[in-house]
Amino acid sequence: MATKTGHSAPKNDVFETAPNWHRSLAAAVRDPDRLIDLLGLPESLRQPAREAAELFPLLVPESYLARIESGNPRDPLLLQVLPLGAEKLEVPGFVSDALDEAASRRAPGLLQKYAGRALMIAAGACAVHCRYCFRRHYDYGAEPRRLDEWEPAFAEIEADDSLREILLSGGDPLMLTDARLEALCHRLAEIGHLKRLRLHTRLPIVLPDRITPQLIDLLTGLRLTPIVVVHANHPRELVDDCAEALRTLVCAGISVLNQSVLLRGVNDSADVLAELSERLIELGVMPYYLHQFDKVAGGAHFEVPEQEGRAIVEELRRRLPGYAVPRYVREVPGEDYKRPLA
Ligand SMILES: *Cc1c(COP(=O)(O)O)cnc(C)c1O
Ligand code: SF4
Repeated sequence: MATKTGHSAPKNDVFETAPNWHRSLAAAVRDPDRLIDLLGLPESLRQPAREAAELFPLLVPESYLARIESGNPRDPLLLQVLPLGAEKLEVPGFVSDALDEAASRRAPGLLQKYAGRALMIAAGACAVHCRYCFRRHYDYGAEPRRLDEWEPAFAEIEADDSLREILLSGGDPLMLTDARLEALCHRLAEIGHLKRLRLHTRLPIVLPDRITPQLIDLLTGLRLTPIVVVHANHPRELVDDCAEALRTLVCAGISVLNQSVLLRGVNDSADVLAELSERLIELGVMPYYLHQFDKVAGGAHFEVPEQEGRAIVEELRRRLPGYAVPRYVREVPGEDYKRPLA
């Protein structure tokens, strides 16, 4: 279960007490100038990157950085993390709460949109800042942090025996320390009518050394059935330490699903998405959703029209086994399920 540590800080006794992943996170690149220098990107990107990073800071771990091709400003992994001048454009129809999530709040940190399942904003932080993120303007500061602050949410879940599944989302729930995550999971496991615990996380993709033996023990030792939904958009993300982390989850018997967002310049072709599905299946991860881009302010340049998305998915159906074709969906505020688009 060893994960590669080639990109993290060198091992030495002083750091021996902190888990590897804390160090990897501390070493993540946060400075646009540094990103541009490390990757040898064109000077013309420097000033726009600085300005866009003021609106939503740059954050990219070294493991992910190592998968980006140097000197290529159009690299599909780079485009997911590089702040661009285009983010400052105000485009009609692109807003900060694109999904009207405020309307789904049942308690602090608890959102419910769909029958039988509710979502906890378990952590405010992420290990990467995806430029297209629909929660890039979310006010995480207002959400619970300590276990006791979650009590109103637990009470709400306890009082509603129609709930079978809790989703831990964020931010990224795996940004919690093992101790916090464990306390949260065990508290939820005490609620008798819950059957499943689903984690929506991008850490296996961007900070693979988060997948430790301790985490596997925690997830597989619960009364609740664990499901992990990861978030990869491009087949080139699924290599090296990331592939190893996914295999570790799958080998532990955890159901692992993947969701992607359809993004201009990143994965807006049947070739790329077919390869992504092939690669996922090879690792034992099931393609789940392909999301139509949510119209978040600052992300208009990522949008692919639905009609084009439908044609791409149609082509995927021609090329792949049925189980390898993700469900192409769009979230429409107020609807009972994520609306299928193809
Ligand atoms: C997307 C989402 C879910 C998950 O929906 P599934 O179709 O079950 O994957 C659940 N709750 C909320 C609030 C969501 O936004
Ligand atoms: S990891 Fe998820 S929540 Fe965090 S910035 Fe990326 S898309 Fe948004």
